[in-house]
Order: sequence, then C-alpha cells, then structure tokens
Amino acid sequence: MSFKDIIGHEDIIRHFKSSIEMDKISHAYIIAGQVDSGKKLLAKAFATALQCENGMTEACGTCKSCKQMQSGNHPDVIMVTHEKPGVISVDEIREQVIESIAIKPYRSKYKIYIIPDAQLMNTQAQNAILKTIEEPPEYGILLLLTSNLDKLLPTVQSRCLVLNTKPVRERDMLHYLQTSLGLDEEKAYFCLDFAQGNLGKAIKLARNDEYVQIIDSVVSVLKHIQDMDVEDLERALSVIEQYKLSINDYLDLMMMWYRDVLMFKVTNSVDKLLFKSEYMHLKKQAGMFSYNSIEEKINAIERAKVRLDVNANFDTTMQLLLLTLKEN
Ligand SMILES: [Zn+2]
Repeated sequence: MSFKDIIGHEDIIRHFKSSIEMDKISHAYIIAGQVDSGKKLLAKAFATALQCENGMTEACGTCKSCKQMQSGNHPDVIMVTHEKPGVISVDEIREQVIESIAIKPYRSKYKIYIIPDAQLMNTQAQNAILKTIEEPPEYGILLLLTSNLDKLLPTVQSRCLVLNTKPVRERDMLHYLQTSLGLDEEKAYFCLDFAQGNLGKAIKLARNDEYVQIIDSVVSVLKHIQDMDVEDLERALSVIEQYKLSINDYLDLMMMWYRDVLMFKVTNSVDKLLFKSEYMHLKKQAGMFSYNSIEEKINAIERAKVRLDVNANFDTTMQLLLLTLKEN
C-alpha cells in the first residue's frame, strides 16, 4: 500500500510526494478515473504516507500506523461506506464524515476520509459535504474518488484539487501481466487490448472465470450472427442478458472482435489478431463485410454503450445492436 507498489500514475504520485515534502497538503482532493483504474490504491498509498510515523514521502511500512493501514483498520483513516447500491445519502455523509471530522484524530496527525464512488452522493449529500470542504478542521483531509466527475456539483469540483488518472504505459502493463500474473504472451496481449491502459481492468479479466465465459459467449454470438434468423437472435439476446451486470465488458469484447475483422481485412494476416483461435470466422467476415460496414458495426456498439449508460431499455438496445451487427 505504498507508492512504490503502484504501477503507472507517476504524475499523481509525484504530486502527492511533493506536497508531503513541502508540507502543502490540500484539504480536499478528487481522484477521477475509470472504474478499476487504481483510484483507491492511490488514495490508500497517500493516506499511508501521510499518517506514517516516520514522516517520509514513502511510507515506512513498519510503524504502528503503517501496520494499521495494512490491516485495514486505521482509526484515523475512514473509508466511507453506503448501504444502498446506487446512492450515498446525506445521512451517511453526516454520520460518517461531518460529525466524525469534528472529533480530533485518535493518534495521528491527520484524519483522512476516503469516499469511493463519490459520484453516488446525491445533491443533498454533496451540499452537506460542501461546508466541510470549505472549512475543514486543520487535521481533516477528504479524498473523493470518482469514475464520473461530471456527476459532482461544480461547487464541489471547484473547491477540490482534481487529479485525473492516466492510462498506464503498455510495456509496464505487459510486464506486470507476464511476470506478476504469469500470463503467456497471447493472453497478456488480449488483456492489454481489452483494458486500454486500465491495469485493474486487465487484472480482472486475467483472474476472473466469468470473463472466460463472457469471451466464449461473445465469440459464439458474433461468429454466426450473419446467419441468424429471428429466433436465433432472440436466443442470443437471452444469452447476453445473463451478463447484464458486465455489459460494458461484453460490449468491449464485441468491439475487439470487429477490430480483429478489420485488422484481418487490412493485413490479411493472423499475427496481430486477438481472437487467433477464431481465425477462420474472422477471415470469412473480413471477406464478407466492407470497411464501411465494419466501421458501422463498431460505431453501433459504441452507441449501445452510451445508451445503456443513460439507462435506455436493455432489451431494445441490444436487439437493435444485434440487428445492426447482422446486417451486411
Ligand atoms: Zn510508517
């Protein structure tokens, strides 16, 4: 849980370290970036360094404070939680932040609040926390983590120091996937392309058995889609519905399939394909679809993602998508 264990995010780490060095710590930060991009790791590493009793820019890892951070029960580092899945209520912010921050730290220099998914704070909750952000006690530090900066009120944003995570370099990700996770080259590249600079996303793909099923499902739907009749499409839709909770990943994988079709069409070679084992089907589709048609399919997947993001009807959106993908 120290900075040196984090892969990538050099800019944010440099910022944190120099603010510790110069003793210029802000009272409120927003760390913004994709789901699984490492926001919580960064927040925890910063909190560990700030609270470390040996007071260096890099936490010592051995003092009582560092040990408490490791075990996840540091009395002066509070991870804000919420009961309902889609919202952080004003009561939760009052109890866990506003009332708590009025009490001095138990034994550390700071009292640090980490709020994951801060975009889930409703307007009331955000307005309630605003006052704490504006007039925090000397020892109070708030770290708001969010995958959707736009959902935070402009007043909240403007009073926090906003740090955006950047994609991790490819070679750093590859190195990690191959050495630390022991992936072979083919799987490492597959995860790399899927994750687009998001190491957490790549690790999830590498480790999770459900992803293997999702990949199988994507392949089984897409390789035959042009031959499907109405009933087949219905069946495909009900298969996809099983992965409703991972639909973004499902759609990312669909996009990778068509990028492969495009790649084959351009290079006429199997070397750079991600779905190498489906080479015959990719070749067939590359021959069948025009460049425009492949591009249209990729755009249609992108549109479906956007629509689902704003809570469009799942079945209608996916039906429409499957029809577009089937079209030649
Ligand atoms: Zn320490």
